[in-house]
Amino acid sequence: MSKVYTASRFNALSQTEEDGLILYNSYTGALVDFSKDEKEEVLTLLKSSSAINETEISTVLMENGFLVSEDVNELKRAEHLHQSMHRTDMLHLVLMPTEACNFRCTYCYESFTRGRMTDATIEGVKALVKSKAKTLSSLHISWFGGEPLLEIDLMEELTRDFQKTAEESDMQYSADISTNGYFLNKDVFERLISMDVRQFMITIDGIEAVHDSRRFLIGGGKTFKDIMDNLKSAKDSQETFDISIRVNFDENNLIETEELTEYLQEYFSGDRRFGILYRPVGRWGGEHDEDIPICSHITAGKKMWQFTNDAVDKKLALSSAIPGVIMPTGSVCYAAKPNAMVIGSNGQLYKCTTALDAEVNHVGHLLEDGSMDLDYDKIIKWVTSGEETDSTCQSCFYRPSCQGNHCPWYRMQTGERPCPSEKTSIRKVLNLIWKNSLNF
Ligand code: SF4
Ligand code: SF4
Repeated sequence: MSKVYTASRFNALSQTEEDGLILYNSYTGALVDFSKDEKEEVLTLLKSSSAINETEISTVLMENGFLVSEDVNELKRAEHLHQSMHRTDMLHLVLMPTEACNFRCTYCYESFTRGRMTDATIEGVKALVKSKAKTLSSLHISWFGGEPLLEIDLMEELTRDFQKTAEESDMQYSADISTNGYFLNKDVFERLISMDVRQFMITIDGIEAVHDSRRFLIGGGKTFKDIMDNLKSAKDSQETFDISIRVNFDENNLIETEELTEYLQEYFSGDRRFGILYRPVGRWGGEHDEDIPICSHITAGKKMWQFTNDAVDKKLALSSAIPGVIMPTGSVCYAAKPNAMVIGSNGQLYKCTTALDAEVNHVGHLLEDGSMDLDYDKIIKWVTSGEETDSTCQSCFYRPSCQGNHCPWYRMQTGERPCPSEKTSIRKVLNLIWKNSLNF
């Protein structure tokens, strides 16, 4: 007897420009588009709760998890996925080779009281990786700061050590960097590629005059031209890499953000290695917080996707971060992952890279021998605040991707659910991902 299939609780639908259908499933990560002619059959199958005949379309729906057999317990599937976050064979370390920065952005939340990573911490990080390597299948390093490229030599020293350990232990090694891009000249870029850094997050805040008034050097020097020269030089490289150009906006630079998109189009349109990401500036805890003209929640959400739509229309690539976050577990912040740790330059261990001064975020200390002195009561607050106890999250269509853990810090601060904008604007986001896929 054939089985009865019903629509997955983790489906979301959107539309193509030609009145076709886009289907997404947050548990399988599948994203499939159907033509206008196929649409009706798809919608009928999704509404059905009886035995289903095998057709080309019903097979696609079943294989991608849009239709699930009635004996499948999808809530258990999501629970199991959540438990997999506790796997111990993967380690993600966010490292601050320095907490100093050559910039003084108007909205920055860091206090710059500490500089280069101490010798004891450097030894501790190397020893930590060596001690874990035997049981790890992968190690991912995120270079963070301050401005990490102020300490490129130290990054290289650590990387060579990680790469050697990875080779000896048959462990996969990968890395990404968040940098202001000022030092990212051709030589540094090539060094980073040799250090397995293939993902870059670089922030621009508008056209030259606007950017330079918001993201300037200590003492006030301009930065836009140097960053853009570096990005243009990276474009000449034949290497495979993934640069997300993050554009921060608030009420003061909305108009100029549109102008920046036109500027970026001239240089990067058609090159999928340069993806664009628009994000509203938030009050992240810096000393100038109250003076930042942040957009209202509604304006921020609306503008973010409007800017992105404009960029995609101009054949600029969508940042890989956007399709990435809608994947299963893709919206879970590393702060909520038991196998991720932020290591400050003095060996202080954190879960979150924003709330650096918050007591609850001081979760331990890395010792010189590579051992970690951890406060598990604090760690528990970061890693168990999501879907375990929130019944709305448990029944959310986006649960496998977010797990109620998009931003545990936001939940702790406000008591509200940290739904990511990708979830609240899922129809628009699916449409943008589809449109972007036609460009590349
Ligand atoms: S917990 Fe929130 S603020 Fe902290 S790193 Fe994660 S997303 Fe950012
Ligand atoms: S935080 Fe929001 S998006 Fe995430 S699982 Fe909960 S309800 Fe869904």
